[in-house]
Amino acid sequence: MKKKRVLSGIQPSGKLHIGNLVGALQNWVKIQDQYECYYFIADWHALTSQYADTSNLKEYITDVLVNCLAAGLDPEKAVIFQQSRVLEHAELHVILSMITPLGWLERVPSYKEKQLEVKDKDLNTYGFLGYPLLQSADILIYRAHYVPVGVDQMPHLEITREIGRRFNNFYGNVFPEPEGLLTRFHKVPGTDGRKMSKTYDNCIFLSDTPEEVEKKIKTMKTDPQRIKRTDKGDPELSPVFQLHKIFSSKQEQDEVAEGCRTAGIGCIDCKKVLIRNLLTVLEPIWEGRRSYFEKPALLEDILRSGSGKARQAAAETMDSVRKAIGFSLK
Ligand code: SF4
Repeated sequence: MKKKRVLSGIQPSGKLHIGNLVGALQNWVKIQDQYECYYFIADWHALTSQYADTSNLKEYITDVLVNCLAAGLDPEKAVIFQQSRVLEHAELHVILSMITPLGWLERVPSYKEKQLEVKDKDLNTYGFLGYPLLQSADILIYRAHYVPVGVDQMPHLEITREIGRRFNNFYGNVFPEPEGLLTRFHKVPGTDGRKMSKTYDNCIFLSDTPEEVEKKIKTMKTDPQRIKRTDKGDPELSPVFQLHKIFSSKQEQDEVAEGCRTAGIGCIDCKKVLIRNLLTVLEPIWEGRRSYFEKPALLEDILRSGSGKARQAAAETMDSVRKAIGFSLK
């Protein structure tokens, strides 16, 4: 039986962090046998907010690719490609822009939120408004059945479904409606307790050294009630414990939670357990990164071959799109 198709992408808008690892990459690896997976480096999307300075783009694209491979993505199983090498995405984006009411884009929650949040860049551009539309083109062009999403990304998927439906109503049934595959960890706290994000400068990067990781955890925010070693705390109010939930065993979580509530352990001891577990997860990633960074020709081959496969699938869809609209004379 033919496998169902999954599409997902990641923006090269900075170095990847452990939130990307547990929120996206580990999940991508887990499902690469089960589905026909298309994973892409969303470099056009990176321009929506980073258009004024692209000096680091090449480095970030390489970083995303190397991290994907180090995390265990296998180019023989999943199609790994670069968005800007598959021009069909842009063609479909133009077509979808003709049929999408402006109001649909303006009401995507992240549009206003991000404009308010990001102060150091002018996001008052068509590209930023049209971001969900390009994302819709990315998904629809592969006629993907599933898109891995966190709960907060559901509205983006919903707009893709609406746009696909609208296209089908106008021109005939070309696009299936993609469904969300909910990911297990969608919110990873940063060192200040807010969601881990480059915008907040609170990330533990996959490119950090063991010493940097250790330092970041040691200075990470805790439950503010625990000022002295003898103060009892509530682990649920501590971002450190949220990371334990991701990286520590159930037994360790129970032990540190109990120790926190009773002041049986100090925050330093609690953090030491987390540091040990985090380093265990990151060690193979670091090893993989070192090895892939030494093979730039292999990286180029992987992207070229993956992008070729993606172009083939995208071209098939665009044939149907052009015929459905009436562009094709055949
Ligand atoms: S003991 Fe651990 S969970 Fe409790 S406040 Fe300190 S660091 Fe956070």
